[in-house]
Amino acid sequence: MSGEDEIVRDAKAMREVLARYRVASGGDFELDAYATDDLPDGMPHKTEAKALLAQGTARLAELQELLYANRTWSLLVVLQAMDAGGKDSTIAHVMSGVNPQGVSVVPFKAPGPHELAHGFLWRVGRVVPARGMIGIFNRSHYEDVLVARVHEDRLPSTGLPPELIGGKHFWEHRLEDIAAFERYLERQGTRIVKIFLNVGRDEQKERFLKRLEEPEKTWKFDAADLAERKLWPAYRAAYQAAIAATATKSAPWYVVPADRKWFARLVVAEAIIAALEDLELKPPAVPKDHAAQLAKAREQLLKD
Ligand code: ATP
Ligand code: MG
Repeated sequence: MSGEDEIVRDAKAMREVLARYRVASGGDFELDAYATDDLPDGMPHKTEAKALLAQGTARLAELQELLYANRTWSLLVVLQAMDAGGKDSTIAHVMSGVNPQGVSVVPFKAPGPHELAHGFLWRVGRVVPARGMIGIFNRSHYEDVLVARVHEDRLPSTGLPPELIGGKHFWEHRLEDIAAFERYLERQGTRIVKIFLNVGRDEQKERFLKRLEEPEKTWKFDAADLAERKLWPAYRAAYQAAIAATATKSAPWYVVPADRKWFARLVVAEAIIAALEDLELKPPAVPKDHAAQLAKAREQLLKD
């Protein structure tokens, strides 16, 4: 893949690139084996990536239209990352060509009192994409086994009965509940793609510094992020456990190298394309009696 002018998206090559980052079973998963700055041989240069991504988003737009037209399946994209991992800009770039009517983006913040009055999956189930829709979770139910696990001392303030907190299998059980919930969604027609934007600790520091040094980026700086940065190893351990426990063939994780934003975007676009292509959707067939109606309508219009 080279030559800035004639760069053409090679679907097969991109599928191979994607396979490097797919985790479809957790048995021997090692998060540390995934480099945050990985770049496979033969990948285009940053300057060519824009054209390539544009072709990817065009393909995505076609597939999204088919999904919408069929209104049977839906696609849920779970997007997780450490702070400054690039979630927001990835969504903006990857979904840029898609009809906004067919997409919902749902950000998950720390739960408020109304949400805490229910089990942790309650707020999630309500916003799962409807048939025909692509739903993007900007953070997700995984926060309940990530930030919640890193700060497990805060669990008593979530309203859970004290008798249910702690215990040897507490987190294991939560992960089981997530896996069961996702299996339920799949059986109801929601395909799931889970993305971990795997940014390195050094790159995170650079991005925080940019937010502090460039006035147009300062609004993004959140002093609380520095406290979480100090807990980096605990977050990595929580991600390791979460991905290992919930990666399946039908709801895989992609551990996407995220030190280069342009490359991360390409990979995320391909992951979504792959999930939709896998459905092998065709334009919905027109029922026989409907075909006669259409012919009549055409005739009428022509005479108009
Ligand atoms: P950005 O900072 O790029 O705008 P963000 O996703 O970090 O995006 P914030 O409002 O900064 O948005 O952060 C949301 C916060 O809510 C995160 O710190 C996240 O860990 C926290 N959060 C989300 N879900 C939960 C949860 N279930 N329990 C506790 N904290 C949660
Ligand atoms: Mg934040």
